Amino acid sequence: MKSMASLVFRGGVHPEYRKELTASLAVVSMPAPAQVVIPLQQHIGAPCEPLVQVGDQVKLGQKIGDSKGFVSAPVHASVSGKVAAIGPYNHPLGRPVQSITIESDGLDTWDQSIKPAGELHELSRDEIRKLVREAGIVGMGGATFPAHVKLAPPPEKPIDTVIINGAECEPYLTADHRLMLEKPGEIIYGLKIMMKALGASRGIIGIENNKPDALRVMRQAVESEPEISVAALHTKYPQGAEKMLIQVTTRRKVPSGGLPMDVGVVNHNVGSAVAMTRALREGKPLIERVVSVTGEGVVRPANLAIRVGTLVSGVLEFCGGLRGNTRKLIIGGPMMGLAQTTADLPVIKGTSGILALTDEDVDLAESSDCIKCAKCVGSCPVYLVPTFIAQAAEHKLFERAEKLHAADCIECGCCTYVCPARIPLTQWIRIAKFEVLERRKQK
Ligand code: SF4
Ligand code: SF4
Repeated sequence: MKSMASLVFRGGVHPEYRKELTASLAVVSMPAPAQVVIPLQQHIGAPCEPLVQVGDQVKLGQKIGDSKGFVSAPVHASVSGKVAAIGPYNHPLGRPVQSITIESDGLDTWDQSIKPAGELHELSRDEIRKLVREAGIVGMGGATFPAHVKLAPPPEKPIDTVIINGAECEPYLTADHRLMLEKPGEIIYGLKIMMKALGASRGIIGIENNKPDALRVMRQAVESEPEISVAALHTKYPQGAEKMLIQVTTRRKVPSGGLPMDVGVVNHNVGSAVAMTRALREGKPLIERVVSVTGEGVVRPANLAIRVGTLVSGVLEFCGGLRGNTRKLIIGGPMMGLAQTTADLPVIKGTSGILALTDEDVDLAESSDCIKCAKCVGSCPVYLVPTFIAQAAEHKLFERAEKLHAADCIECGCCTYVCPARIPLTQWIRIAKFEVLERRKQK
């Protein structure tokens, strides 16, 4: 396929990527911890209800939480052992979430429900969707949208293209990069599962051109797959954002307020593709994921395959702990990740990175008044006027924020990154977006 390197989106930024800390480190399996904490909400949508009680014995891979909501994803035990507690526990979103704590028996005894689902050509579209749902697969780039929902668009929105997001445009993170180098076959198979479920005739794997080794490996892997191509993307943040990725790989533009399915496209992350392959071939639910543990504050940075529910404190200990000058702990990347006040919280399905930044990396300067430089406007990849929306949010003028299309914000953080006055624009716009969406729901 012709290189897409010349196709770029408007706006965006070029942050320091600092991926060299972990890019060359192969994925290592972290031993299962003695205890896991499984939140009942690890996805966008309805939270799960527990299917077990304190004192119950559970097996590895057993479904322990589920919901009747369509937009939801069940959760599973990531160790075998005994349910020690059910109650609120710290969560990367910043507030305690109802969670199931399991004490491991150290045996890793698989649940009897875990068995291969069969060959892809034997499964119907509905069977694939059910399989993906039952495996609890969500968007693993951080969005955590239940994957089965994206595989079931309404009939009036036919899908012809599935895009696998291998851009990994966030600085520091290398989990997807390593998956592309180490598991190309599982990614391709996962893409084929999605294409079959959606009846799509074309698959595209988008990779930023700062990962030439991943481009080479994935191109080799699709040589005998005429319906799948690999697109080399310009390196620019947020290239991996859904709308940007669709624009540069298909030249289709998702309308304001619209979804990728409006232009015949569904996007999934590299990790979600691997999870679908394992669900089909091995019957395994999503109980483990690859996480980049990185940043200058981590003594031994690594790419780790970690059981969901492992505490971040335990992961950091496994990596030699934090350096004394660590200033900020972030779950995710530095642009879109969430800063934490504690490491006593679990790795969840959407945890792509654990990032420790030091004094040298954290800007502690106070914000000042807007100097009307318009840099935030020039950086916004979805054509918003961040300074106006932030001002509207600050004054609680949410109708004005709606008119300024606050709901279209993809929370990429570019505006905050470029603002010379260091105004926390993204934070304000996130508040505006939340209010606008809540009001729409009430109407
Ligand atoms: S307004 Fe939203 S989409 Fe635009 S740059 Fe800021 S965070 Fe990104
Ligand atoms: S970048 Fe900052 S200072 Fe410049 S216009 Fe936007 S909010 Fe104001």
